[in-house]
Amino acid sequence: MIYLIKEIDVKVKTKFVGKIAKGYPLIAKEAIGNLNDLQEEGCLMRLVDENNRFLAKGYYGRQNKGYGWVLTQKENENIDQEFFNKIIQAAYDYRKPFFKDTETTAFRFFNGEGDGIGGIIIDHYEGNYVINWYSKGIYSYKDYIIKALQNTVTVKSIYQKKRFDTKGQYVEEDDFVLGVQPEFPLLVKENGVQFAVYLNDGAMVGVFLDQRDVRRTIRDKYAKGKTVLNMFSYTGAFSVFAALGGAVKTTSVDLANRSLPKTVEQFSVNGIDPESQNIVVMDVFNYFKYAVKKALKFDMVILDPPSFAKSKKFTFSAGKDYTNLLKDAIAITEDNGVIIASTNCSTFDMKKFKNFIEVAFREMGGKYELLEEFTLPADFRTTSDFKEGNYLKVVFIKKIKR
Ligand code: SAH
Repeated sequence: MIYLIKEIDVKVKTKFVGKIAKGYPLIAKEAIGNLNDLQEEGCLMRLVDENNRFLAKGYYGRQNKGYGWVLTQKENENIDQEFFNKIIQAAYDYRKPFFKDTETTAFRFFNGEGDGIGGIIIDHYEGNYVINWYSKGIYSYKDYIIKALQNTVTVKSIYQKKRFDTKGQYVEEDDFVLGVQPEFPLLVKENGVQFAVYLNDGAMVGVFLDQRDVRRTIRDKYAKGKTVLNMFSYTGAFSVFAALGGAVKTTSVDLANRSLPKTVEQFSVNGIDPESQNIVVMDVFNYFKYAVKKALKFDMVILDPPSFAKSKKFTFSAGKDYTNLLKDAIAITEDNGVIIASTNCSTFDMKKFKNFIEVAFREMGGKYELLEEFTLPADFRTTSDFKEGNYLKVVFIKKIKR
């Protein structure tokens, strides 16, 4: 299959030339001098400086404030099937150890700009692949990319999530693209633990793969004999690992109704009686109040909020409110207990996150010790050219008796 991709010369404003020349992959709207020349998303942008010197080739695709991603810095490299084959093959080579591990069958196969193309993410679930397209622009390369995937790995099935604006018209779409559809729930494994996932059920399939190392650490090093409170629990993945690690009891709190049956299911597929655990559908901010009123305290409190959330009574923004969330957690954590603070917010870095922790403990008049910290696991490959791509920050904090 051959199709012609339109190529447009794009003048990069002087202020942005250095960054792009150094390898920064995101093409910001403000970097483009001749916005009016851009036509349909997907066209190639030949980025040049003000003296028409070649900088890089990228594609036009609108995603938040970005207007595209660099594909290559080589002037004579063609963006064709061979190009995509090479990129997908490299992603596969990098993850060979994951394909060999029979105890973990769900992992990220392609992590956007970390693997050479921004705006696309591919996850692997036991031979089934889920492609997330973040712009119409990258979606226009769909045939190339799917072909490259099929050329590289054995594909049982492919599902897709179009994560770009459909102009307000929501079309109830089947996410299934090709192959043989597995039965759902599909049971995948992570370090020997089962997860029930639904590849055909909206943007979230049931598990966030980036917390794999954190979950294993909770199970193997921290859970034994502990009471665990899992806030913003979703399908209860942290609770399942804590219970399997010997926690005496887990409490999972999430305000979404679906979290209850999903958490019951996650416990059940791992042979844990859900009745022996506590699953609460509630706003976490109400649960904190309830716990204080009932004088409940926990040995371990896990905080994994979304970057931004709005509930009936509260608005939570990680950048503004994380310190207060920590203060709520500190109040109901036992002395020598552990708070696991996590955020996927890319607007602040680890240093600032640790500052939230410092301020929270100071204002609560308590002492603490940082035990360990995590960022993205190896399969979530990132590039030093795009530091904001490494969004995950997780810190294990011990609350020390005053
Ligand atoms: N910790 C989870 C992922 C959390 S995703 C895991 O390990 O899989 C974020 C979750 O926060 C969503 O399930 C959402 O329903 C929930 N949520 C958002 N705001 C909330 C609030 N105020 N109270 C309780 N849950 C909330």
